[in-house]
Parts: sequence; C-alpha cells; structure tokens
Amino acid sequence: MLQSATTRNVIKQCNRTLSIRRYANAALSMNIEKKARRLVFDNRSPSFKDFLSKQQPVNATIDKSLTEPDNVPYLQMDSKTLGQGRKFYIEVYGCQVCALSVNALQSQEVNTSTKMNVNDTEILNAIMTNTGYERTDDLDDANVVFLVTCAIRDNAEVRIWERLKYLRHYKTKINTSSPPIVGVLGCMAERLKTKLLEQDRLVDIVCGPDGYRSIPHLISLAEGEEYTEGVANVMLSADETYADVMPMRLDTSNASGWVSIMRGCNNMCSFCIVPFTRGNERSRPIDSILDEVRFLNDQGVKEVTVLGQNVNSYRDESESKYFMSGRNTGSSLSNPGFKTIYKRKDGGRRFTELLDQVSLINPEMRIRFTSPHPKDFPTDLLHLIASRPNLCNSIHLPIQSGSNTVLERMRRGYTREAYLSLVEEMRRIIPDVWISSDFITGFCGETEAEHRDTVSLMEQVKYDTAFMFAYSMREKTHAHRRYKDDVTGSDKTRRLQEIVTTFHAEASKKNQSLIGSRQLVLVDSERPRTKNGIETKVSGKTDGGHKVFVQENEDNKALQKGDYVEVNVNHATSASLTGHFIQHSSIQQFARQKRNYST
Ligand code: SF4
Repeated sequence: MLQSATTRNVIKQCNRTLSIRRYANAALSMNIEKKARRLVFDNRSPSFKDFLSKQQPVNATIDKSLTEPDNVPYLQMDSKTLGQGRKFYIEVYGCQVCALSVNALQSQEVNTSTKMNVNDTEILNAIMTNTGYERTDDLDDANVVFLVTCAIRDNAEVRIWERLKYLRHYKTKINTSSPPIVGVLGCMAERLKTKLLEQDRLVDIVCGPDGYRSIPHLISLAEGEEYTEGVANVMLSADETYADVMPMRLDTSNASGWVSIMRGCNNMCSFCIVPFTRGNERSRPIDSILDEVRFLNDQGVKEVTVLGQNVNSYRDESESKYFMSGRNTGSSLSNPGFKTIYKRKDGGRRFTELLDQVSLINPEMRIRFTSPHPKDFPTDLLHLIASRPNLCNSIHLPIQSGSNTVLERMRRGYTREAYLSLVEEMRRIIPDVWISSDFITGFCGETEAEHRDTVSLMEQVKYDTAFMFAYSMREKTHAHRRYKDDVTGSDKTRRLQEIVTTFHAEASKKNQSLIGSRQLVLVDSERPRTKNGIETKVSGKTDGGHKVFVQENEDNKALQKGDYVEVNVNHATSASLTGHFIQHSSIQQFARQKRNYST
C-alpha cells in the first residue's frame, strides 16, 4: 500500500523524536557511568538496578545540549589527523572457528558471519586511515589493538576472552613501555556491552557494529585521564549503513572482494542473536553499492560477494520515486509456503534489480551473494541468475532443520515441504545450480525423530556444501526466554556427527560424478600443494564455489591469482576437486562453449 506524503512526514517526525529520546537516554546513561569514570553510550535508559547501585538521584539532570542529535559528543570529530600516524592492529573473529566439521573446501573460506566481519574491518580500516592512523600487521608496533568479534556461538566468545587475557598479560608484562589500547568491536561488544569494561579491566574500548564512525573519538577519550575505566558506544542505529564510507581492502592482492549491501535482520529466528547485535534491517542506496562494485572492478577484483544478514530481503527506499511508485521488482516471497513474522513493506528497489545492475558492471566479474533467507527467492530472481553467466549458480539456502516442528519452534517461517518445492523450482530454472545450507542440531526439545527428519532431508536434497553446528543457546533470544536447552551435550555431538557423515556421503557421490567434466576455475591461490598424492600448482574456485587444485604442466607455468582457467576434473573427494589445466578462458567464452556442448 502506498503511503501519503503526510503519513511519511509523520513517520519521519516520529523517527526523529525516537532518535532524540535515544540520545537523551544515552546522555543519562553517560551521566550515571561517569561516576565510575566510564563513558557509555547505549540505546537503553538505565535500569532500576543501575539506579540502586549508583544511588542516582531521581531528579538527575540531563544536559539539554546532549539531547540534540547534532551535539552528540561521539559524533564530534575535531580533526582528520586525530591519529597522527599512530598504528592500529586488527584481528578478525568469526564463528567458523567452532564448527565441528564442514566441507573442508568451504572451511578454508570464511563463512557469512566472518565475511561480514571482514567487510566491517575494511570499513574500520577506512575510518581509521581517514583520521590519520596507519594499519600495522605487527602487534608490537600497535598503539591500538582491535578484536572484531562474533557473538553467534559461545565458543567464538570463549576464544576472544582467552585472547583478551593474553593481551592484558602483554600490556602488563611484555610491552609495559607502550601498552596498546585494546578495543572489542562488533557483535560481542553489542551483546555484552559494559560487561566487557567491567571484566578485570581487559578492555579499554567497546564499540558495537553501528558505532564504527565514533572509534577515533573513543580512542581519544580512552587515552585521556577522565575515563580511566573505559569507553563504550553500543548504540544501535535505525539507519546506519556506512553507505558513504568506501571500505579499504585488507588484502589488495585478493582476487575477491566483499560489499555489504544491507545490515541487520527483521526475522527474529528464535535461536539467533543477530537481530539483537546488528539491529533492524536497513539497506544501502543502490547507487552507492554500484559505485563500490565499480571501484573494486577498477582495482582488478574478479569476484564480488554482496553481503547482508538477509541479503535477498534488500530494499532500497532512498529515492521517493521508487518508493511512491510502488515499483517493487522481486518483492514477492518464494512461494505460498513462506511467511514472515513481520509485515513486509511495499515499494523500493529490490534485490533482483540490484543484482541485475551489479552483474552488468563487468560481465567478466563473478557475482555471489550471501546470506539469503529461503523466503526471498521470487521466480524472477532465479531466472536472472540462470540468464547471466557471471551470476554464480551457487545458492546458499539455509534450512537449519528438516523437521516441521523444529522449524516452527525456530520461527523460520516455512515448512520442509515449502523448502523442498523451492529446491525443485531452483533446479528446474537453474539446472546446474549448486546448493549449500546451514544446519543446527540439538535445538531445544529436538527428539530423535526430528533429528532423523534432518538426516532424511539431507539425503533428499544432496547438498554441495554444508555448515553444521551443535546448538548453543544465546541469552536474549526467543529460545532463551521460551524453551529449554534440553538436548544433552553427548546427544548433540552424536547428532552433529551423524549429519556431518550424511553430508559427506552425499557430497562425495556428487563430486565423484564431476570427474571428467570441465570447470571454469578462478585462481585465488598461487601456493603449490600436494593433494591426494598429486602435485598441484595453484588452486581456485568453480562457479559453484568448490575448491579445485590445478596440476602443473608445461602450459600453466605462468598461472596467477585472478586468472580464469578451464580445468578437466580428474580426482574428487567430498571436499575438493583436482584437475588438469586445459586453457585460459573467460566467463563469456566458457558460457558459449557450454551452450555449444549442450546443443
Ligand atoms: S534470518 Fe534468522 S538466522 Fe538469519 S540472521 Fe536473521 S534472525 Fe538470524
């Protein structure tokens, strides 16, 4: 339904009021924390517990100037040279570190959460560099150390706590002459907020995923004498997308690049912490995305992955002509078996239109996307993927469980049957599509019969790649409030092992069937390796994302990162392929050849 101009104005005013109230709460929170020589910006007003513990007078005054958005202290950036050449060092964490076992070729890659963190790190890199700091790869050189974190699974956080303890040891025992400031950024910062500052003085700066612009200023505050117990900005934003920040790549020799197109998620799956750490869904304007992809293309990047927590729910509403016209390409759900727990909005430019435009920038640049939700695959999106050779035929289709009752408890918004009919539709429209998925085993109340449903679904779909995890309950989630984490640890481990075995058995059969086939491989590593007793020279990825090790011969001595090569597959495991180099190729040339073979 279209909104009238008046309605939109009212909404704007409400948003502004909410925004001002948020800043007021932040200011109040800041006043209370100041007593502890700690400065915290948060969306929440102080709790009753805060009130009692801090003995805050009821009529606490708020500095009125702080309630105006234009005067928010952390946004006041005095200088482009705050850093004065000082060095920052970054470590990026993601939840792939705690997977028991995943398709080995994919485990060498980063998964969605980590990709988002890498992309966030590139945004941080740009913000820090633009304010006069320099990046270093040497901890001993660093004035500031950042840990860019993930909160999806408990194991990832345990690993970060261990690292923080080491960094405290490093500051107090090893590098006492110039101890660096330590900052925890990203989802763990958002989830734990001030707990990170309170815990044994391990951390000086805490900053959530929507506060990166404030980091140079937070550093100045942490270095000053007033806030000796740390500073934090964990405010979640309704509109921050960093659309105007051109990320600076960490590894410019990489043939692949990532572009974040939307942030946050509205789905509220019952097991998931993401909506609480990344906030509500909001999309970048399409033009800023196209500029960034063109920039990567100009730098010689051969493969771009567009990223978002629910990437195919992308909806650019920045231009009123699209918003008001109700133009709505690709807004429909995948099929009648899918639903959302929130009311979907009309208008705006959708994912299909974005992908259409991104794929036209350079037909020789591969485009991937992750992570999508199965609800957002309208037929026109599938036809677009089928028709553009540079839109990779690999689709991540996270199901999480094969049991309808578990899916209901997870609040995924679809049934096993709806999901399977979508898989069928995908394979009809894109015959050589490669499908990957995520699985959580041992979710609250999962019975043996429900677990068997997941195993049977895996046997039916025959995935090319899978990310499999044992359930780990997170505070704040719907599941934490409503369900019991009652599957024993040993049952979770056994069930995880069973789905891993099922996946590998099916993937191995599928990969064996590729022996003798020709694949287009984008070389992404020049490291020679011995694979299954075979000497290989370089490695890369197929259109479907499978790792391929390319054997050395007289013709391929000069292969390098970024080359497209045609490879004849002669060996396969469930995790990777090995093959002979045939010739240099290109996306368009390979697509023409494929068409000729099939006619
Ligand atoms: S779709 Fe569900 S699992 Fe994915 S980020 Fe959103 S809430 Fe989490």
